[in-house]
Formats: sequence, structure tokens, C-alpha cells
Amino acid sequence: MNYYAKILILVVFLIPVTGTSQVTKNSSGKAMPLIKLAIHGGAGNKPEILKNPKNREAYKAVLKEAFDKAYHQLKAGGTSEEAVMTAITILEDSVLFNAGRGSVLNAEADISMDAAIMLGETKDVGSVIGTKRTKNPIKLAQTIMNHLYHNTLTGKDADEFAKLKKLTMKPLSYFKTQERVDQLERAKKQNQVLLDHSSPQDPDKFGTVGAVALDQYGHIAAGTSTGGLANKMMGRVGDSPIIGAGTFADDKTCGISATGKGEEFIRHTIAAQIHYDMLYNQASLKSAVKKAVHETLESNTGGIIAVSKTGDVVLDFNTKIMFRAYVDEKNQIQVEI
Ligand code: ASP
Repeated sequence: MNYYAKILILVVFLIPVTGTSQVTKNSSGKAMPLIKLAIHGGAGNKPEILKNPKNREAYKAVLKEAFDKAYHQLKAGGTSEEAVMTAITILEDSVLFNAGRGSVLNAEADISMDAAIMLGETKDVGSVIGTKRTKNPIKLAQTIMNHLYHNTLTGKDADEFAKLKKLTMKPLSYFKTQERVDQLERAKKQNQVLLDHSSPQDPDKFGTVGAVALDQYGHIAAGTSTGGLANKMMGRVGDSPIIGAGTFADDKTCGISATGKGEEFIRHTIAAQIHYDMLYNQASLKSAVKKAVHETLESNTGGIIAVSKTGDVVLDFNTKIMFRAYVDEKNQIQVEI
């Protein structure tokens, strides 16, 4: 084959693989590929937690570590899927957040975790409901996405599939922390199902985690992982693993990860509302998210992180605080609570 034929074949095969890349400027004005990332560690109404500067710093440090590793990957040419996986895995491994290790306990003092990932280019979806022993629920969601025709697996069968695929499994003792045991006791005494981040009596722990990324090939991915609500009933499912409620991605519009009162996000199909507002009403990401968070959702119920195909990054919440890290319009990294 001659030289020009080889070049032609390379071009034909590479274009669909890489997609169309967009360009932006870095903080010193130099052109760079357009990449964006936003992550969250839960939204809530208990700023008491922030009174202790040690807590504040501990949360920020893990958020920063997760953000930096995932952002570095995107800069080095990694995909949005890789970045979302990296950020969420780090947050799941930290006891500080209500996902993976350190998840809240259900009414039977066990854990039951939900997670989902979606790719905006292909609309590939993987989600898991009620996994109990898979160390990283987001890896199980990704494995479901990449290996199965089905979108979602639940409970024991999901854990069996994780074992089959040789994902790391852990005993209950790995996930269960003393803080969560105490939290469950308080919830039981108050006969309450606690939103992880809404009880003033429970100022020590925060929530669900999520990430949304736009890579330099123009593709969006979104993922969310959670232990759900403390003292939740056996079998309860939140919004995080429900596509169109707590997690969604479409390269035509945006990627979304939500946190808050799952029941409220599910009944309003909040992530889908934002997507369709952009798709059919030509709404900007900012106005679509604002409408969903401040008009559709009940107040004090949660927040959203979102990244659009053109690189807009929006983080909005109707609670007092939301743990978050993101790259702003000047391509500066922000870690905020
Ligand atoms: N959205 C999660 C759920 O309802 C909880 C949270 O975000 O803290 O399961």
C-alpha cells in the first residue's frame, strides 16, 4: 500500500474515534483543547459541619484530590468516561462521603448502594441498585455498561455479577463506620429516615458523590454513586441509578449528576427535564438547571452539577451548601462548599 493510501485510511478511521475537538484558552491565554470537569460530594442543609475548620479542610482535600487526578487525565488525552470513573472511585474510597466506604446504613444496619454512569456519545448506560459488597459501585455500573446488553442489575444478582467479573468485594465491616452506626441509632430514636445531609442533629457526615466531564474529543460522561438515605427501608431506591432522574448524559446537550432527596428528583425526572429543555426549547444550560433546581424541585431538596457540550459548567442547589469542585470559565479550578 502506498504512503497516501495509508494516510487516507488513518484519517478515515481516526475521525470517528476521536470526534470533534473544541479549543479554549488556559489561564495564561494559551490555546488548549476544551475540557471541563465538575464533581460533587453532596448537597445539604447543615452548615454546622463547617464550623470545625478541620472538617472543612478534610472534605476539601478529598474533593481536590479526586478533581485533580481526573482533570489531569482529561488534560493528558483521557476520555470523559475515564475522568468520571477516577473522580468517583476516589470519593467512594473515602469514608467522608456517603458512597462506597462510609455509606449510610439502612433500617437493618446494612448498606445498600446505588450507582450509575452514562456516556453522551453512545447513550451507553450502566447502573446498579442495592449492591452490598462491591467495593466500588461505580465500577460495577461501568462493568454492566461495558459487558451486558442490560442497563441495570439489582441486589444479590448484581454482586454475583461483580464477583464473576472479578471486581473487588469487601465485607460489611469495610463499609460500616462508627459514625454511621451512631447516625442510624439517632435516626431510629427519632423514627426518621434521614437525608444524609439534612438533619441538624447529624452534622458530621455528607453525601452522595458525582462527576460530569467533557473530554477533548467533544464527548460527555456523567456518573453518580450513593449509599442513599440513613435508616431507609429495605429495597428503597433513590434517584442516582435512575437515568433521567439523578444521572444523564447526551453529547447533544449536557451531562448531569444530582444529589438530594431522591424521591423528589425521580418524580420530576429532573435530569431529563434539563436535557429536553435544552434540546427542544434551546434553553441555555444555566437557565435549564435554574428552572429545574429553583422552580421544579421543592426547596431544600438538593443540587445539580452539569456540563454542556459547549463547555458551560453549572453547579446549582436549593440547599444551604453543596460540596463541589469544578473548572470555571477562565479554566481555573475551584473547590467550594
Ligand atoms: N440522592 C440520594 C438518594 O436519594 C441521596 C443524596 O444525594 O444524598 O438516594
